[in-house]
Amino acid sequence: MRRHRNVKIVATLGPASSDYETIKALHEAGADVFRLNMSHGSHDETRERHRIIREIERELDGPIGILADLQGPKLRVGKFANGEEELEEGAMFRLDLDKAKGDARRVRLPHPEIFAALKPGATLLVNDGKIMLQVKDCGADFADCEVLTGGTISNRKGVNVPDVVLPLAALSEKDREDLEFACDLGVDWIALSFVQRPEDVLEARELVAGRAAVLSKIEKPAAVKCFADILEVSDGVMVARGDLGVELPVQNVPPIQKRLVRQCRAAAKPVIVATQMLESMIESPVPTRAEVSDVANAIYEGADAVMLSAESAAGDYPVEAVTTMNNVAVEVEHDPNYRVIIEASRQAERKSVADGIVAAAREIAETTDIKVICCFTQSGTTALLTARERPRVPIIAMTSLRGTARRLALSWGTNCIMTGELQRFKQAVVNSARAARVHGFATPDDQILVIAGVPFNQPGTTNILRVAPCDESLIFASDPE
Ligand code: ATP
Ligand code: MG
Ligand code: MG
Repeated sequence: MRRHRNVKIVATLGPASSDYETIKALHEAGADVFRLNMSHGSHDETRERHRIIREIERELDGPIGILADLQGPKLRVGKFANGEEELEEGAMFRLDLDKAKGDARRVRLPHPEIFAALKPGATLLVNDGKIMLQVKDCGADFADCEVLTGGTISNRKGVNVPDVVLPLAALSEKDREDLEFACDLGVDWIALSFVQRPEDVLEARELVAGRAAVLSKIEKPAAVKCFADILEVSDGVMVARGDLGVELPVQNVPPIQKRLVRQCRAAAKPVIVATQMLESMIESPVPTRAEVSDVANAIYEGADAVMLSAESAAGDYPVEAVTTMNNVAVEVEHDPNYRVIIEASRQAERKSVADGIVAAAREIAETTDIKVICCFTQSGTTALLTARERPRVPIIAMTSLRGTARRLALSWGTNCIMTGELQRFKQAVVNSARAARVHGFATPDDQILVIAGVPFNQPGTTNILRVAPCDESLIFASDPE
């Protein structure tokens, strides 16, 4: 489905968005990639969501990306008898190891290692830092806390203990099972939570074994410190601002976000800005001005994708939230200032023929009336390099590999179209022209740019750049071979 914007939208699926109609409506409203959060729901529920997405993909005949997000060593409270409770400021609330469902006075926190490490005075933050508790008294299996900041606490909300260092492995037993399950299903991206070191990513890469691309969620101060090394071994990145803003002072998050987005773009790897982007839309059909600014800023920064979490997974207005993001994106990208900012932030490190070819393609498209850049890609690299240039004209990524097309659904400005295996370059030009016409990117009177590597199917051979007419008869007339 052709979008009229470049930034991509990731929507998390959950109880508010699991039936065929809603998922299809989310996709039609603008969701390019769906996130399946392995922290919530059963394997059967995840499998069903995956099946529905693939069914919609078949019907609409356009690749849709699926990202499975592993829970990682995240601490979470248990469940409540009523599903949720309201915590009032000044009240006392107990965390313990009791398996009974929670109420307004207590809930289970199934992590003995936290109780062992807690001391009176320590703070606990719940639900991306929205609720703050302070430990008054604690023992091996309980902590009595005063509610410093109240709010709604509900089933399996995340808990952070910023004052306490906990010894945590990167991948739990559950994560390994979930990873295997998700790879078997055929997801396109595996997201790793709480990455701290490049070794954490390498460990997961080994288990994934090429079955999906690997995305590192940056939500720990330690990961920010060694970000360059983590980026090097990752296929993509998520700036997971929820935990980042809890583990670091909140005001540190925006500069980090800007830096990470730039580094990812320089490395030609997709980056998602995530968490609380339209948080008020969980309960309201309209966003706040500040939220709209936040989404707009991420787009001005040049992020590949913006993401919805609870807004689409558990909110009352999932489709409206996607529509809002789509509208903000269209408006920002039409602002002449957007081009100025995007071009000023281009960091061109040109080391290869491919780097030079994609830069030349962008320049030609800027100086002449080219309608679209078509690039042939099997591994996806040529498309990623083209996207890094953030050209003014749309990019069509032509590939014969469905997995590549689906992975590229996350990348800025990349429209993926399936093509057969090719033998000759001329056929690539003909297929590009046809795709550009059929999908409404160009008319027969227009010119297009084609980038490819010949011989085909050899990775790293991007070596041809051709300006071609979009009219097939002219291609045959103008081309000697
Ligand atoms: P993470 O730290 O991985 O982001 P999270 O708990 O914040 O985990 P999100 O996917 O960001 O989860 O979604 C936000 C909220 O939406 C969750 O706290 C949960 O209440 C709800 N939610 C999301 N997905 C599901 C699901 N599949 N089943 C039940 N609730 C869900
Ligand atoms: Mg998380
Ligand atoms: Mg979240």
